Amino acid sequence: MSWLKNDLDIKKQANNLGVNFWQAPSFLFLLLGFTVAFIMTAVFIVSRESITMQQLIIAEFLVVAVILSIGNILIVNMENLAKVNKSKSEFISVISHQLKTPITGISWDIELLISKYGEGLSQKQREILENMEVSNKVTSKMVGDLLDVARIDQNNLFTGKEELDIVKIIEKVLAKNEVLGRNNKIKVKFLVDDNMPKIIGDNKKTEVVLDNLISNAIKYNRDGGSVFVNVRKDGKKAVISIKDTGIGIPKGDQDMIFHKFFRSENAATKEVDGTGLGLYIAKNVIEKSGGKVWFHSVEGEGSVFSVSLPLA
Ligand code: ADP
Repeated sequence: MSWLKNDLDIKKQANNLGVNFWQAPSFLFLLLGFTVAFIMTAVFIVSRESITMQQLIIAEFLVVAVILSIGNILIVNMENLAKVNKSKSEFISVISHQLKTPITGISWDIELLISKYGEGLSQKQREILENMEVSNKVTSKMVGDLLDVARIDQNNLFTGKEELDIVKIIEKVLAKNEVLGRNNKIKVKFLVDDNMPKIIGDNKKTEVVLDNLISNAIKYNRDGGSVFVNVRKDGKKAVISIKDTGIGIPKGDQDMIFHKFFRSENAATKEVDGTGLGLYIAKNVIEKSGGKVWFHSVEGEGSVFSVSLPLA
């Protein structure tokens, strides 16, 4: 029933879509329905009196004209919305592309300063540079995520099909998350089936997805908690599962978890930084690579996120 209440809240719908009240789809549908019902009733009443064939045809034309006019307004509005949505994705894509170059430049300069001139710096200067490096990495990840979201929205996401050593990729991601794990006092364990075959996927994007799932398992954990990363062979697929002993996802939020920008309330109250884009990107990348992403979670106990990818 809540969907009906939502659909009938025309003012809210118009506000959400940024259109006038009379341009809201629900208003136009209601108008269409009432107009058709009114004209049909009028034709029925009039036809009980004496009505000529000519008058009946004119009435029919009138009904069709009204339906077509309202239908046309609906289509034009939808087209406008689709155009605005497309230019928004293009805007995000252009801005993210433009931001990538200066961000990479800053990262190189900081690395150069630390590696080449680090000796001459005081402890405080070094710390400042390291903080700048961390902030720059966060910005770079956000820009990368926005670029991926724009690609997904424009149906333009490309994923390579290379032979990959999944164990090596996970080891790299675990090394990247070592500091985060240490800061949050999380124990991370990695278990692999012996002789794990290679998988087929996109090197960089698979790394980004696993980085997101593993960093989530650390971020949304409790102090002193654990993360278990496991890779196994399951028929023609490799299954990677990431289990944590963290805050879990409330049942009511579980349907929304792969939606763009969605963040659970318990994650927000934990004051963990995030954009709600990682899982949306993960689902799209993995499905495009011929795999699947799923999860099981109990609030207050923890979550297990799993990814399957085709074996080579
Ligand atoms: P972000 O972490 O940047 O917010 P994600 O798309 O990776 O974005 O995750 C979306 C939301 O899903 C998170 O904000 C959090 O509410 C929830 N979530 C993801 N992973 C976990 C996890 N391992 N444990 C609990 N909640 C999680």
